[in-house]
Amino acid sequence: MSDDAGIETSTTQEPGLDEVTTRALDDARTAVDEHARTVPDFPAPGITFKDLTPVLADPAGLAAIVTALTHRCRDIDLVAGIDARGFLLGGAVARQLQVGVLAVRKGGKLPPPVHRIGYALEYGSSSLEIPASGIDITGQRVLLVDDVLATGGTVVAAGDLLRRAGAEVVGVAVIMELDGLGGRATIADGLGADLSVHAVTTD
Ligand code: AMP
Repeated sequence: MSDDAGIETSTTQEPGLDEVTTRALDDARTAVDEHARTVPDFPAPGITFKDLTPVLADPAGLAAIVTALTHRCRDIDLVAGIDARGFLLGGAVARQLQVGVLAVRKGGKLPPPVHRIGYALEYGSSSLEIPASGIDITGQRVLLVDDVLATGGTVVAAGDLLRRAGAEVVGVAVIMELDGLGGRATIADGLGADLSVHAVTTD
């Protein structure tokens, strides 16, 4: 199923996908199964951390994931990658979509002036910033990219930040959605139920 933004909204494979997309989704899920590292109690007790770094370091894994993330993305003007693994993905996804990329950075890294937002994490709290000068994202159709969707707080904060800066957030694409943390519902509450959320795989 796809929505008006043309971004896949289901995590289950559907009939009718073209051969390249079907293979990319299969290969991406295989790469995650083979290379993702599960780290208990990191960075805090009770958190099961999914380290997807080795998946991105695998050439076939990276290629499949980028294709799987971008399938059916249409009419995107800009990709926004969320600090920090979203930067790696964001650049690759933007290149595949032939658009530019913007880093949504943790607070305190960018020179002023910045647009800034504070938010709560699965563990602790944080802030995100984007430049308020030198780039005009007014009216741009933005795809948000990150590695893992957990509680959804980071995506909602990033989406809010981009909207406040004038952008139109049209989709969210992640490699892995963590089941049972309510990320999808939090995004629907925070950014609207019609926003597309595409996860290559669910854990
Ligand atoms: P959240 O705001 O809870 O959805 O958290 C998403 C952000 O935190 C992403 O940038 C992830 O990289 C990171 N993150 C949160 N929880 C985990 C986890 N269990 N494993 C790996 N990364 C996580």
